[in-house]
Amino acid sequence: MSLGGRLALLTRGEGSHVWDAEGTRYLDFLGGIAVNALGHAHPVFAETVARQAATLSHVSNYFATPQQLELAARLKELAGTGERGRVFLANSGTEANETAIKLARLHARKQGWAEGLIVSLEGAFHGRSTGALALTPKAAYQDPFRPLLPGVTHIAPTLEALEELFAGGERISALVVEPIQGEAGVLPLPEGYLRRARELTTAHGALLILDEVQTGMGRTGRWFAFQAEGIVPDAITLAKGIAAGFPLGALVTFGDASDLFYPGTHNSTFGGNPLASAVANAVIQEIQDRDLLANVAERGAQLREAVERMPLVAGTRGAGLLIGIALTKPVAAEVRAAAHARGLIVNAPTDDAIRIAPAYTIGDDEVAEFTSTFAVALDEVASRHAAPTTEGIPA
Ligand SMILES: *Cc1c(COP(=O)(O)O)cnc(C)c1O
Repeated sequence: MSLGGRLALLTRGEGSHVWDAEGTRYLDFLGGIAVNALGHAHPVFAETVARQAATLSHVSNYFATPQQLELAARLKELAGTGERGRVFLANSGTEANETAIKLARLHARKQGWAEGLIVSLEGAFHGRSTGALALTPKAAYQDPFRPLLPGVTHIAPTLEALEELFAGGERISALVVEPIQGEAGVLPLPEGYLRRARELTTAHGALLILDEVQTGMGRTGRWFAFQAEGIVPDAITLAKGIAAGFPLGALVTFGDASDLFYPGTHNSTFGGNPLASAVANAVIQEIQDRDLLANVAERGAQLREAVERMPLVAGTRGAGLLIGIALTKPVAAEVRAAAHARGLIVNAPTDDAIRIAPAYTIGDDEVAEFTSTFAVALDEVASRHAAPTTEGIPA
């Protein structure tokens, strides 16, 4: 069964597989867009939801819960904020980024600036609410909703544009960047970008805010992508894999940025409720107990090596199990459809890139199933485009 002729109606999942209403089985290598870190219907997930739902699922923010305090302590520890760090729990990546925008505004006020620009990068994706959308410079997403939040601008994701920005003399309250641009086709920042961004933001009194909604919580083989760069940001935003499929988002602050919010400046009714927090705690514990970060790094390398030898593949990029597969032709939508027809779920964030973001738990069987199915899908699309009659005709 399909919805709108495009989406399968999925009814059940187990591990790295999902089934549609007709009983067709798919290997899920998209993982709910980098969300299902433990795959589907993981016993730890299911038992934690059931146990916590039967104990305490929601209280207002007039009260704390042990689950919430435990999660905040875990995130501070994993991110290395030290005692000064603070954690603001929300319900999604967009809401975490809205919180980051407010953090940037409070920072500008503290500096005594009436205004301060918030700067994001071309190709960025930070969410679809009107504030996060202002930081997401894509015409198709923004244009129907103008005017957007003022005081936001964008620069190219290059070191030259970064230097130029800070040489321009404008007051910049925050630079907001993804360590790897997921929606742009899993595009890593240029080598050394985050280190230089840290130097320049510090020198000019701007916050460095990293959107780790997609790259965080182990997806790249480290808890957070910034940890591969030897820098400390002022804040990171998290969501997607944080509770492996239970809605939850977070803003984690470091150092002075932790003193900006004060009582009354921010709140969220559902944010950090004990149910979502309990699931996140259990997911983090499971990743640690099974040493899944090592599996993420190892399986990621294994998949990239296999894919790089396939037809139509120009190369791979990303880190851990967030992998962009660059194609030699703009046929990503065809490749996605061919894979789907063979029972493999991947996605096509751009015309010439396929993204995979499977569960951290994948093993030899899933790697083998992916490798054989994806190769067949690529072969089919490659042979279609190699036909003499279509040679040289743009897709
Ligand atoms: C998915 C995503 C968001 C938005 O998260 P939602 O939970 O959909 O609101 C923001 N930033 C990045 C980098 C993302 O990948």
